[in-house]
Amino acid sequence: MDHFGYREDRLFAEDVALETIAEAIGTPCYVYSRATLERHYRAFDEPFGNYPHHICYAVKANDNLAVLQVLQRLGAGFDIVSGGELDRVLAVGAAPDNVVFSGVGKSVAEIKQALCAGVRNLSLESEAELDRVNAVALGLGKRAPIAFRINPDVDPKTHPYIATGLRENKFGVSATDALHLYQRAAGMEGVCITGIACHIGSQLTQITPFCDALERVLDLVNALSEIGISLQHLDLGGGVGIRYCDENPPDPAQYAKAMLEILQRRGCTLAVTLEPGRAIAGNAGVLLTRVEYIKPGPDRDFVIVDTAMNDLLRPALYQAWHEVVAVNPGSGEPRNCDVVGPICESGDFIARGRHLAVAQGDLLAVRSVGAYGLVMSSNYNARPRPAAVMVDGAGYHVVRNRETTAELFAHEKMLP
Ligand SMILES: *Cc1c(COP(=O)(O)O)cnc(C)c1O
Repeated sequence: MDHFGYREDRLFAEDVALETIAEAIGTPCYVYSRATLERHYRAFDEPFGNYPHHICYAVKANDNLAVLQVLQRLGAGFDIVSGGELDRVLAVGAAPDNVVFSGVGKSVAEIKQALCAGVRNLSLESEAELDRVNAVALGLGKRAPIAFRINPDVDPKTHPYIATGLRENKFGVSATDALHLYQRAAGMEGVCITGIACHIGSQLTQITPFCDALERVLDLVNALSEIGISLQHLDLGGGVGIRYCDENPPDPAQYAKAMLEILQRRGCTLAVTLEPGRAIAGNAGVLLTRVEYIKPGPDRDFVIVDTAMNDLLRPALYQAWHEVVAVNPGSGEPRNCDVVGPICESGDFIARGRHLAVAQGDLLAVRSVGAYGLVMSSNYNARPRPAAVMVDGAGYHVVRNRETTAELFAHEKMLP
């Protein structure tokens, strides 16, 4: 459920007409809805009830400071994957002990930064990383709280680029390797074992892979307990999908119910961490864009808009499908079309094979772009990144200024 919808043929975000924002701020422009972010956060938090749990929002889905701030005020923790993301969450006042640090390639500098800040734990993904974290912690006179990220080898049935829990993926360690690594870690002075983690992929639309992964992780928890290694928390990762088109992903309540059933049946009382990213932010954002030209093509027309793959990479990167709608429907002839950007790449499309009634100058909204949208943007073709706005009830705030072209080359130097 999101807070974008039509009122008398005008598309609104909460109580603000999107055309008002486009006129004041210009296009392209990302628009986020605060009420939607809050609703999605609560949808994960509430079903866990009294079971000890932390919702650590996956910052990489949308790292805008205002988005982080909204979630932080609700009590969210954060899942980070870089030192840059750590700086961001600290900038909005996050408590470091509610931050977990994931990722396969943590640098020495990032490990130091995380240990000095006092994050709750680091999810480790290899033996080499264990050795590095141990050495860095010893150098600082600290003990690093660690979990290992298990690769449970289950098929998440999602796009191959966002599947992470298969044996052939670069993520996590196998259950067999994990036993050995936990034993090694238990004898190290610079680390302190606190938990176990797992994240099998993104945009999962079925619940079974989550259940299979949890069962396998709990098997490992038992095996560890038999060799005298006890844990305090269990990190289930993120991955719950959203509806872009006609998918039917489990809603957060169904997901929570399934996880709780397994935990209870297996007698597990470990505190649980969840790391939803897309399911919180994805349907909380749209991208406003204006039609520059309509160009007839052999099979269908090209609707050339002022946004492009540099602003929204998902269609080009994953052949992702995003709904495109008219902000004020009613103008133009219905036509078969591709919605494309101005960039010099044939991969620069926003939507292909659509049937839309549009005319030059119309305002369109690309839906479900709140996650993995602006965070993946670039300046390709020397295009400044778009502005971003957060709607809050009947008002809105600019939460990212549109870049200027001068800013784009401010870090560059000419030869003397
Ligand atoms: C990307 C990621 C997430 C969030 O995934 P979503 O599909 O956006 O919910 C959570 N945990 C880890 C470790 C990740 O890498």
